[in-house]
Amino acid sequence: MQQAMNDQVAEIQAVDTPKTEEANRLLETKVQERTYDLESLNRQLQHDAMHDALTGLPNRALLMDRLEQAIERQRSASTSFAVLFLDVDRFKLVNDSLGHAAGDELLLAIAARLQASVAPVNTVGRLGGDEFTLLLEDVQSREEVIQRVKMVLHHLAVPFSVAGQELRITASIGIALSSDEPTGADELLRDADIAMYQAKTQHKGGHRFFEPTMYERRVTLLNLQRDLRQAVEQSQLRVYYQPILRLSDQVVMGVEALVRWQHPEHGMISPAEFIPLAEESGLICEIDLWVLREGCRQLRGWNAGRATPLTLSVNLSAQHFDQPDIVEQVKWILAEEETETQRIHLEITESLLMADNIQALEALRAFRALGVKVVVDDFGTGYSSLSYLQRFPLDGLKIDRSFVTMAAEQPEVIQTIVTLGRTLNMHVVAEGLEEDAQIRQLREMECDFGQGYGFARPLPPQELSEFLREC
Ligand SMILES: [Mg+2]
Repeated sequence: MQQAMNDQVAEIQAVDTPKTEEANRLLETKVQERTYDLESLNRQLQHDAMHDALTGLPNRALLMDRLEQAIERQRSASTSFAVLFLDVDRFKLVNDSLGHAAGDELLLAIAARLQASVAPVNTVGRLGGDEFTLLLEDVQSREEVIQRVKMVLHHLAVPFSVAGQELRITASIGIALSSDEPTGADELLRDADIAMYQAKTQHKGGHRFFEPTMYERRVTLLNLQRDLRQAVEQSQLRVYYQPILRLSDQVVMGVEALVRWQHPEHGMISPAEFIPLAEESGLICEIDLWVLREGCRQLRGWNAGRATPLTLSVNLSAQHFDQPDIVEQVKWILAEEETETQRIHLEITESLLMADNIQALEALRAFRALGVKVVVDDFGTGYSSLSYLQRFPLDGLKIDRSFVTMAAEQPEVIQTIVTLGRTLNMHVVAEGLEEDAQIRQLREMECDFGQGYGFARPLPPQELSEFLREC
C-alpha cells in the first residue's frame, strides 16, 4: 500500500518537474516584465505629471521648475531671461464654430510652431486652454527680446490648415524680464500675464512689457469689475434715453438707450469709465442685452397710441459677434417684448467692420433679414474704407460728435459723410448737436437726424415721457 503511494508520488513528481520549472521560468519572466512595466509606468507617470496631455509640452509644474532654475542661474551667473505669456486671440471662436476637435488640432499646430520659433534651449509650455508660456534664456537686451517675440508672432502669422479650413490667428504676448531684484517664479508669471492682458485690451496681436503701474491698475480694475458685476446683479444700472429728431421738422423719431451706473458709494459713474471695464470683463454682452430688453419694454409704452412710432437705438459691442447665437438672443428678446423689429436700430462700431469678421458679416445679414436696422456708430473715427461700407449690410451712419463739434470750421467732413450716406442709401444721424447754429447747419446740409444737448440730454424714462408729451 505504502509502496503504491510512493510510486504514485514519484510518478507525479516525474511528470510535474519540468512543468514546475517551466512555470518558475515563466513566473520569473513575468516578474521581470512587471518590474519593467512598473518602471516604465513610473516614468510615464512622472512625465505626465510634468507635461500637458494634449500637446506634450511642459505644463505649469515643469515650467515653474524651469523658472526657478533660471532665477537660480541669474543669481549665480548673472544671466538674464524673459518670460512670455502668450494668449491666442479669439480662440473661443474656433471651438464654437469648428468644434473642439478642430480647436485641439489648432492648439497642437500652434505648439509645434512655437517650438519651431525658438531655439531648443528655451522652454515652451502650455498652461491650459489657449495660454502658452515661453521662457527665453540668455537674454542680452530688451531689443533682443522684441526681435525674438517678433519671430514668434511671425511663425504664428502663417495660416494654419485645420479641419480642411485655412485659419489665420493672432496672439497677444505679455513679457516679464528677469530683474536684479529678487523675484519669485510665481510673480514673474503673474507679471507676464498682466502685461499680456494689457496687450490684449489695447491691440490684439501685439506685445507689451510688464511695468509696475500695470499691477496697480489691474487691482483697481479688478475691484471696479467686482463692483460692476454686483451692479448688474443688484440692478444698480439704469437706462437713460436721448431723443433723436428729424432735422427737417424737428419731430422726435427715436431714442438712443444709454446705460448709466448708479454706484452706491461713488454715485453716478460715467459710461466712459465703466464701459471699457465691462468690455474687458466680458460683462458688456450681458449689459447690452439687458439694455435692449429694458428699452423694448419702455418703447412699447411710448409707442402705444403714438402717430409716428419711435425707433430704439441700442449699442451693441463688437464682442457680441464672437458669440454664435447673438442673432438668436436678440430675436428672442424682441419676440418676448413684442417689439416690432423694424423699430430697432443696432449701433455697431466702425472697428467691427474693419476687423473683416465673417461671423459679424453673417450676423448683420441675419439682423437685416429680421427687419432690424444696423447703424455704424461714431462714424468717421475708424478710417473704414468705402469697400467695407459696401460689403456690410448697413442702414445708417452716425457721424462722430468730434466732427459735429468742428462743424463751423470744417463743414466739408460732415458734408462728405452726408453725401456718402445718400449715395449708399443710408440715413445719416449727427450726434453731439449742442448749439442752434449747428442744428441749422446740419439741416441745411440735409443730414437726416440729429441728437444732442441742443434738443435734450439723455433722460430717465419718466422724464422722457414728459418730453414726448411736450413735443
Ligand atoms: Mg451710440
